[in-house]
Amino acid sequence: MAILGKNTVLPLLETSKSSLPHRLFKSITRLIPRYERCTCNECEVFSGVFGNTFWHENLSPSMHYWLNKENVTKLPMAAFPHLRKICNTGNIVDSEGNNSYLIHPERMPLPTLYISGGRSLLVTPETSFLANNYMKLHQPGFRHERDVVEGFGHSDLLIGEESYKKVFPHITSHIRSAERENGAISVGGRKYSIEAMDWEDDPYEQYGGFSTWFSPCVVILLFLMLVALCLSMFNVF
Ligand SMILES: [Zn+2]
Repeated sequence: MAILGKNTVLPLLETSKSSLPHRLFKSITRLIPRYERCTCNECEVFSGVFGNTFWHENLSPSMHYWLNKENVTKLPMAAFPHLRKICNTGNIVDSEGNNSYLIHPERMPLPTLYISGGRSLLVTPETSFLANNYMKLHQPGFRHERDVVEGFGHSDLLIGEESYKKVFPHITSHIRSAERENGAISVGGRKYSIEAMDWEDDPYEQYGGFSTWFSPCVVILLFLMLVALCLSMFNVF
């Protein structure tokens, strides 16, 4: 921010006029390590500021062009000190660094759905895991669900070429379920206790899921071993 000076709005287009501080800032962003490099100058600067926000293979060329050449042509940087405070704290805080939001879960009486990319990029699936548990704990009367979609990272979940097939069905399904329940879930319906909540989701699903460790073959093998053990005991006695 010190490099930018007073004008904190960064022009991103390669063809736009840039001041010396802005050119210096953009040169530094290109040096910052990231998962994927790109031949597009604007994409390189944007990824240097935020980190890669999508896996390139999930975007069509036309979407990539629109993002970098038409959608975001200027980047206001004034919010970054606030973002830094959020990242350093580990949860959302206000611009002064105060915990002003998470202390008021009663202000969010609504159903929620969390979707993370299973091919981690920019953020980890743990963020949606924690958010989902927070809402289940504080707003148990509403439907809260979470999905981890394999092959996606972050923004490509919504703007990916295959999003309409692999991601959007989770959203429409959740909306239909929430509407059927009229937002709130009855007391006799789905209810979450703290203990149940701890086991509701699988934090290891990005590694293939805990359940996959116990495939049907393994269960059958364990059963056969149990039968063999019983037979051997029978022979002894
Ligand atoms: Zn790119």
